[in-house]
Amino acid sequence: MEPFGGQVNIFFRFLVLSVVFHGATVTRAAVSLELDHSRAAVRQYDEVRSFLGELAKAHPGNARIITLGESDSGEPIVGLEVGSGRINQVVVATHHGNEYGSTEVGLAFARDIAARPIPGYKVHVIPVLNVSGYNRKMRREAAQGRSYDPNRNYPGPCGTEGPFTLKSTRALARFISEKNIVTSATLHTFSPAVVYPWGLSSHDLKTGYEGIFKGLVEEATRESNYPTGNSTELIYPADGTYEDYAFHTHGIWSVLFELGQSHNPSTQNIETMVRVNVPGIRRMLESAPIERASKHAFSGKCDRSLVSLDRHDE
Ligand SMILES: [Zn+2]
Repeated sequence: MEPFGGQVNIFFRFLVLSVVFHGATVTRAAVSLELDHSRAAVRQYDEVRSFLGELAKAHPGNARIITLGESDSGEPIVGLEVGSGRINQVVVATHHGNEYGSTEVGLAFARDIAARPIPGYKVHVIPVLNVSGYNRKMRREAAQGRSYDPNRNYPGPCGTEGPFTLKSTRALARFISEKNIVTSATLHTFSPAVVYPWGLSSHDLKTGYEGIFKGLVEEATRESNYPTGNSTELIYPADGTYEDYAFHTHGIWSVLFELGQSHNPSTQNIETMVRVNVPGIRRMLESAPIERASKHAFSGKCDRSLVSLDRHDE
């Protein structure tokens, strides 16, 4: 009786200990990994960084903090790298500092993917690219006594307001090149719309990969039902954007999300944006080609008369 009883007792104690330990872990994660979207309009970058840190701590086997470089305001631009696959993808939010709805969706997506990485892929999530703009909730980013629109700051085949006068855009350009990024989702507010290149000042808007891009935006919008299509046609022409740069220079499958209905979404609006877009971003990444496009340079004609149509507000 005694040996058997002892074994049961040891087994029972192990069970209790593991339940207590497990329970503590779950409780801690549930508290620290909660995203209070009512703070979205006042959240500062430090809070974004700590949240990513908590995600990395809660999922040490899946996720780690990465640094792209330093911003012009002297802060590290950080992201979360998730998974261990060979194919690299990136999700970038908050090129525009006032578009905090996109930051919230980026953070919620980081939490989702950290808990459940995509097999075969390494997904990098950068919730805030424009750090000083985000802290002030201003669209533009300051550098050396001036300010620039970060999403007009890349070299573009039909023009740019840069190129690369910001450390943030330079850091992201270096990052997508070094990491051999294959697919990219950029998050903005608002339209709503999910669009693909070209988005520049031209009437020649076909990349030759319309079939693939249409498939991607369809996967991305199954829950949201956002309108989809070509960037210039659905939004307006804009030169020097990241999305066109990534495709034109590297053949990266580059999809732009214009989330929600406002630059100042309510807490409830943000919850809806998260609910309908996080699964779509994930499905889009899962269904993307595993290699970059081979024929990606813009070969159309630019039309300078279209430049004035850029409203610089999305
Ligand atoms: Zn924007």
